[in-house]
Amino acid sequence: MNRRNDHPASPAPLRPAARRASSMPRSAIREIMAMAAGRPDVIHLEVGEPDFGTPGDITERAFEAVRAGATRYTPNAGMPRLRELVAGRVAARTGAAVTAAEIVITTGAIGALFTALNVVVDAGDEVLVPDPGWPNYESILHLAGATPLRYTMRPDNAFLPDLDEVERLIGPRTKAILLNSPGNPSGAVFPQAVMERFGTIARRHGVYLISDEIYEDIVFEGEPVSALSVAPADRVLLISGVSKSYAMTGWRLGWMVAPAQLAALGAGLQEPVTSCPAAPSQAAAMAALAGPQDEVFRFRDIFKRRRDIVEEVFRGTGLLPFVPRGAFYALIDIGRSGRDSLSFAKDLLIRDNVATVPGITFGPSCENFVRVAFTTEDRKLRTGLERLRDRLLASDG
Ligand code: PLP
Repeated sequence: MNRRNDHPASPAPLRPAARRASSMPRSAIREIMAMAAGRPDVIHLEVGEPDFGTPGDITERAFEAVRAGATRYTPNAGMPRLRELVAGRVAARTGAAVTAAEIVITTGAIGALFTALNVVVDAGDEVLVPDPGWPNYESILHLAGATPLRYTMRPDNAFLPDLDEVERLIGPRTKAILLNSPGNPSGAVFPQAVMERFGTIARRHGVYLISDEIYEDIVFEGEPVSALSVAPADRVLLISGVSKSYAMTGWRLGWMVAPAQLAALGAGLQEPVTSCPAAPSQAAAMAALAGPQDEVFRFRDIFKRRRDIVEEVFRGTGLLPFVPRGAFYALIDIGRSGRDSLSFAKDLLIRDNVATVPGITFGPSCENFVRVAFTTEDRKLRTGLERLRDRLLASDG
């Protein structure tokens, strides 16, 4: 019988949507953003992207490239010239001999994380993830059917990992360790010794290091250390992109640096997902990487100035247990409020018109914190921070 013409009198109950999609954990930040969206005059300290526009010459060169024909599919791994530019940049920063064959251009750094994780994990594998850490790591693992195991980073240890704990968590099913420095949400920057120890662990246990270095250009003291400069290159997958350094979040352009064999697998994985990142965005990234870098330093200096404002507002209160050294976030201790982080953040929004991210978004270790992003102009930032401080100091706890 022809199945198309077989119309039963009443339709059978529809089969359910995919379990992996329906059970995907929703981030608490979405709840706050939805609440904040409907309110006038909110001071936004929840937004995780630079508040500047993309530098004009990058935008201009992207338009020129589009007019000249950058409107078509590109290879899965990205435009050859952009891969070369990324390889040159990474080699110069890390001292590693990186070639274009090791570069995959992706749709944002999140695309690179998705590709990297799916290149190394099978369903049932484990990956060590930072707590506190960016929640999207766990979402990708959820989609891959893999299991995240959290390693904690505590404020009394400057939000650095306890590497003995990291090592203890590694079991026969562990494939990779995810690390993020400069880190979201803490602003910690791992020193050389910590990065070297990750390298030693990778060597000893045969696991991959997936190193999310998207905030590499936003460092206020000293230099960040790349995993690729200290760990064996055959087990490092480095993630970065143009989003934060060049104020280009909306262009959705990132990259993965991986051993050539894994890079080739990663390029293949892009075919059924995005095929390739958008050609105009690749052209813009080329302009960003090949052009003058003054704006990157100017942005960094603005974030440093704002970091200093955060420090000044909270000085002597005990509410800022760690002064961020990179990225554009700080964790504020809300312990004295006696509230959980989601209800505290909701309350702060309703009473003081200040939007923050509840710490629980970043893992259970962060339940006594809210995250503030210094991605708002100085005066508003100061006002928002003062309201948060005063609300906490007025708490009974
Ligand atoms: N990694 C971390 C730690 C982030 O905080 C973010 C964005 O907030 C990303 C990766 C994603 O970057 P992109 O916008 O390039 O996908």
